[in-house]
Amino acid sequence: MSHYLKKYFEKTKESERSTAAIAYLASLDHIENSEPKVSQAIIQELKDQRSYLKLIASENYSSLAVQLAMGNLLTDKYAEGYPFHRFYAGCENVDTLESMAQEELKSLLGAKHAYVQPHSGADANLIAFWAVLTERVQNKEIQALGKATLDELTESEYETVRQVLNKQKVMGLALGAGGHLTHGYRHNISSKMMQSVSYGVDPKTGLIDYEALKAQVIKEKPLILLAGYSAYPRKINFAKMRAIADEVNAVLIVDMAHFSGLVAGKVFQGEFDPIPYAHIVTSTTHKTLRGPRGGIVLANDEFSEAVNKGCPLVMGGPLPHVIAAKAIAFKEANTQAFRNYASKVVENASLLASFLQELGLKVLTNGTENHLLIVDLTPLKINGRQAETLLRKAHLTVNRNSIPNDPNGPWYTSGIRVGTPALTTLGMGEKEMAEIAKIIASVLKSAEPDTQKDGQKSKAKAIVPENILESSQETVARLLKEYPLYPEITIDE
Ligand code: PLP
Repeated sequence: MSHYLKKYFEKTKESERSTAAIAYLASLDHIENSEPKVSQAIIQELKDQRSYLKLIASENYSSLAVQLAMGNLLTDKYAEGYPFHRFYAGCENVDTLESMAQEELKSLLGAKHAYVQPHSGADANLIAFWAVLTERVQNKEIQALGKATLDELTESEYETVRQVLNKQKVMGLALGAGGHLTHGYRHNISSKMMQSVSYGVDPKTGLIDYEALKAQVIKEKPLILLAGYSAYPRKINFAKMRAIADEVNAVLIVDMAHFSGLVAGKVFQGEFDPIPYAHIVTSTTHKTLRGPRGGIVLANDEFSEAVNKGCPLVMGGPLPHVIAAKAIAFKEANTQAFRNYASKVVENASLLASFLQELGLKVLTNGTENHLLIVDLTPLKINGRQAETLLRKAHLTVNRNSIPNDPNGPWYTSGIRVGTPALTTLGMGEKEMAEIAKIIASVLKSAEPDTQKDGQKSKAKAIVPENILESSQETVARLLKEYPLYPEITIDE
């Protein structure tokens, strides 16, 4: 027995010992024997996460069961294909796990077909795009050429089909308006394999204008209308989105990577739940859904077969150890405790937005209806990069974010994105949101761009009075002591 577990046994009474802590500490001991730099990095990350308030809207804290399910021999198994239809022998146990994860997910979200293999949200989106391109474009072209399958095409026929695929159009929310890179951004493959057109938000309200979107969709006639966001603080009406897509027979894909936990937790219901309206829904599993890093694709009957062919379409082998962790996370999300959590996430975000506004900060769209809010820094004369760095010094982790038509561009930006999923997992509520709002406001309002050696104002650095930083750090330390992360894991500081 090495030191972490030994110390734990010495310090913790038998009746108070946790199997998760024992498993965790034993694994750290084992890793330490193999490569101490790796165990040290894991422990340092734990210490960091225990010292900084996590306000990154796309992050959370998964359960120890989710984490432990990933650290085992399932990682060694190849299982290309899908349950009970594999290209490898010996996949019986992966079949059991994967079909269990699919069933859990379908029951959680009321979906007809679930594919749980994508390694990430970006993969899930590629699979969704290619499922649509296959069903709606490629298969029709093959038929028009009088052939039955792709393999029967000559080289030149295949080249013709390839070019037709490349001419299709995807329409997603612009990156600067809160969309994601994979929604047609120029530097992403989504805009290289298809033509890409973006829609924005109303410059006055910051909201999606459904009438303007309808007119744009009718003009552009995209093959795919994509709804979903990484930095949009409002709900989306998916009934309206579907009606708009139907105007031009476009396929509605909803990327609910950010808000799948709010759908699973029944906070987004009726017209705000994408499942009944979208042809395909994609998501990550590690944000508000609080599972392992990964992706999922849900599909209606038209696309379920094509989605199942995620391998070979986009991916190689699935990650069975991550699928095991997904199965646990979906089950955890199908509980009243998770539903309470999801509504608390939204309540906390809304409280945080109002406290920040009361303290004089500008919050885009005047608040939030989901788990995130965007602070517009333009009145404060600092940019997003400076705010992000200063808040980290105050022991709060946020990320900088563009605002619509950002004058500072996507690197420096003029905003910060603030989210409540992680803090809510720790159990924080109204009182803590008020304290956190005070820290954010005091740091940002007293910040000034740093002056460089040549006398010019720095775009990367800003300064705040030392006493403000110190008092922020003290408050953060107190809050994190009151709401500890993984309290059962004891590691000497
Ligand atoms: N889609 C949206 C809306 C996202 O916000 C993200 C990640 O931030 C992704 C897709 C990509 O997910 P991943 O980082 O798992 O590839």
